[in-house]
Amino acid sequence: MSDFRSVGRNGNQNADIRVSPHQQNASRGISSTTIGSPERIGRKLRAAVLGATGVVGQRFVRRLADHPDFELVAIAASERSVGKTYRDACSWHLDSEAYAGRGDMIVQACSPNAFEADLVFSALDTEPARDIEPAFAAAGAFVFSNASTYRMEEDVPLLIPELNAAHLGIIERQRANRGWPGAIITNPNCTTVVLASALAPLERAFGIEAVMMTSMQAISGAGYPGVSALDIAGNVIPYIRNEEPKVESEADKILGRLAGAGLDAAQAPASFPISATCTRVPVNEGHTITVSVRLKGNPSVEQVEEAFRSFVPDTAGLNLHSAPDRFIVLSDNPDRPQPRRDVEADGGMRITIGRVRPCPVLGIKFVALGHNTERGAAGASVLNAELALAKEVLHWAS
Ligand code: NAP
Repeated sequence: MSDFRSVGRNGNQNADIRVSPHQQNASRGISSTTIGSPERIGRKLRAAVLGATGVVGQRFVRRLADHPDFELVAIAASERSVGKTYRDACSWHLDSEAYAGRGDMIVQACSPNAFEADLVFSALDTEPARDIEPAFAAAGAFVFSNASTYRMEEDVPLLIPELNAAHLGIIERQRANRGWPGAIITNPNCTTVVLASALAPLERAFGIEAVMMTSMQAISGAGYPGVSALDIAGNVIPYIRNEEPKVESEADKILGRLAGAGLDAAQAPASFPISATCTRVPVNEGHTITVSVRLKGNPSVEQVEEAFRSFVPDTAGLNLHSAPDRFIVLSDNPDRPQPRRDVEADGGMRITIGRVRPCPVLGIKFVALGHNTERGAAGASVLNAELALAKEVLHWAS
């Protein structure tokens, strides 16, 4: 195995993220494993999905079945599924081609010894992710994780590429801290992604002082089989375990900045309070949120609408395969956004905002919508990997 370095497709060493001698030693130390090798399939990197049988995992498999840069080489799940064909291990929930044409693949164990891959997309639950994701990172893989387990660690990036692409710069420190030749890169909770995306234009244009948010979250957000039909049909459940603390803390991290560089990089979170109430509603896909926000300078509704319209994402010009054509869309229609009508726009990667109006308590209020299992899960992770590739973080010397 050749040295593991951050080298671009054109062979130029990346100036921002370089491996230390320690990391190079770590890389040599894993040469007996099969993860993180420089081999590629043509011009593609080898990708695996952990938790491939679940709600999010199936969307990963569908996204990777025909991806220009990543080749799906392995699917993995719990011991319950290992050794079965993908077709036998789960029932396909999506409307598209069954099993994305991968029904004959054999489900592997979630272990770096079980298969060869360069990057790993994790749709594992919080607890299994705790040991499994670091095992892959230690073996040299880049882990793109949906699990909440490592999101708030100070050396782990919590990315929404359109908002905080620069946070990738913490990886050098993560790898040095942990002695990993690989890395863990996370995406936020599926409600946080809607909130943080809607707040970013306002934080940049005005500065935020306080936020109150109520979510109406889709059934698919609870995984499969998830919430019982008897509980959710014709009902609203005003409690989602562990959800509100995640929403209240993750948005500040995402909207904060990365101070310093290299081994001195540090994440400095934003510091406005967020009060979140999270509910489950009988909607299949799409989390809708209502937001009230107090902004510095007390801008008008028109100024806030202009901030949404004119927001330029960090990904502009990068031409990322999974990025939406339009990241934030402001609807003029008084009864939008609606999950059934708006959630699939732009491959589920768009955030739709509407009903911007005065709030007698905090100043401004509005409604926002995002796709929980795409923008808030599988699509988000794949976009993170595409960003890492574009920024030449995700490459191996040849
Ligand atoms: P899910 O439908 O319950 O699927 C869980 C997956 O994990 C299955 O493939 C399962 O495999 C596997 N698994 C369970 N225990 C395991 C173990 N001990 N070792 C290895 N694999 C194990 O869950 P989900 O909704 O897809 O969510 C997956 C992750 O994404 C969670 O961390 C969740 O919080 C996060 N997330 C979900 C959403 C959403 O909207 N659903 C959005 C954002 C983030 P078996 O089939 O073999 O049991």
